[in-house]
Amino acid sequence: MRQFSENTEFTSPIIDFHVHPFESSTYNLNMYPGTYDLDVNEMKRQLAEAGITHICGSVLSREPLQGGFCGLRELNREALRLREELGDFYTPGFHVHPAYVRESCEEIAFMHGRGVRLMGELVPYMHGWGSFSDKSWDQILDTAEQYGMVCSYHTPFDYDCKKMIDRHPGMTFVAAHPGDRQRVAEHIELLQSCPNLCLDLSGTGLHRFGMLKRLVGQVGADRLLFGTDYPICNPRMYVQAVYGEELRPVDREMIFHGNAERILGV
Ligand SMILES: [Zn+2]
Repeated sequence: MRQFSENTEFTSPIIDFHVHPFESSTYNLNMYPGTYDLDVNEMKRQLAEAGITHICGSVLSREPLQGGFCGLRELNREALRLREELGDFYTPGFHVHPAYVRESCEEIAFMHGRGVRLMGELVPYMHGWGSFSDKSWDQILDTAEQYGMVCSYHTPFDYDCKKMIDRHPGMTFVAAHPGDRQRVAEHIELLQSCPNLCLDLSGTGLHRFGMLKRLVGQVGADRLLFGTDYPICNPRMYVQAVYGEELRPVDREMIFHGNAERILGV
């Protein structure tokens, strides 16, 4: 029988652009609580065994958001704390919120001062907002653009992101999750009309064979970033899914690490 191992030999650095790192069970978003109660070193081992050499992303909590912006700030501080433990392995991302414009802008400046350039993944449905068309986003995104932030977002309910992306041509936006076929078509349309938009491959989508090849053909590999949404999703499955699509090696390298290196300077 043919050995699978030839494909599991990891030769390329793999940057997982979409992780929600954790140390305690409060921040561990695995959908089957108790199956993987890992500490931070075990978490790193699990990702490294999947072939992942670097992770990026925000901390999320299992508990509903409490204390308004204070609750978000706590998640952001936890991300900084995890960076101290994980060192070069982790690029933290942080939260902002349209109901807290002043606090969000202060947080952007604070994070910038600590060398953080990634805002997000912003997760509207978890934090009680639903749209980027909300006027208060303008000021937050203006500030983020001035500070050279990259904005990673979970697509809001209304999918109305074009205006805010167009208004901030100097900022790179990264939409999360290709989704099902209809959503992939919407992403392609938006990617084709917004040169400062990229898509990360986490969550739903990669399991549909041909989806990634279609995306590469329609928008180019330079707009796609590898991501998993670990610990919600199994990271090894995503690594193998990218290896499983017949792509030019140069495109695969861009997806696995080249684009994240370029966008985030990691
Ligand atoms: Zn996520």
